[in-house]
Amino acid sequence: MSDASFEQHPADSAYHRRLPIGERLDASSLAEGLPWAIEELTMRPLEPMLVPEVPRGGEVDPTECRTCQTNPHTIWQDEHWKVTAGWEPGGLPFIGAIAPREHWLLEDAPHEVLAGYGPLMQRISQAVKSIPGVARCHFARWNDGSAHLHMWALARPAGMMQGRGAILEFWNDILPALDEDMMREHLDIVANALAAGGGTAYPNR
Ligand SMILES: [Zn+2]
Repeated sequence: MSDASFEQHPADSAYHRRLPIGERLDASSLAEGLPWAIEELTMRPLEPMLVPEVPRGGEVDPTECRTCQTNPHTIWQDEHWKVTAGWEPGGLPFIGAIAPREHWLLEDAPHEVLAGYGPLMQRISQAVKSIPGVARCHFARWNDGSAHLHMWALARPAGMMQGRGAILEFWNDILPALDEDMMREHLDIVANALAAGGGTAYPNR
């Protein structure tokens, strides 16, 4: 950031003081813990952990939040929630972002909005699993890029035991990308399945 008042310093806590900053850590435990996916991995040296962190998108000025903007890739929405997907083809059958339509953070979202997420999660899982060749729908929340609350739904291919768990997201960049036709077909399946239970498919088209 160009703002001179934004000065970072190393985070200091009992947790941080024990970390070997600058050292390259042994990643063999990942290969041992995920032997179905990883044989060998090299980690970058551990970098200093600086605070305050650079603000996330929409954190300082919600009017600049990209998640709030009308998006042609929104495949479904209802009164409180929207699902966005299909920015570019990846290797998984489906990846979508689930977010409230209004600019809420997890920290300040009204319970009325949050209460809708449970049933929606169930509907999204069923919709994603109706894509041919999909066994499971995994969910994740990271929220390091945009401050606007968002979760991820990821389709695990049937029989892909190498995609079990958190490694699934990384396979999206590794498996051969879907062609445009298959990607759109999968988006249609999810959008129409969700709309069948309420809300609108492709509201911004
Ligand atoms: Zn927002």
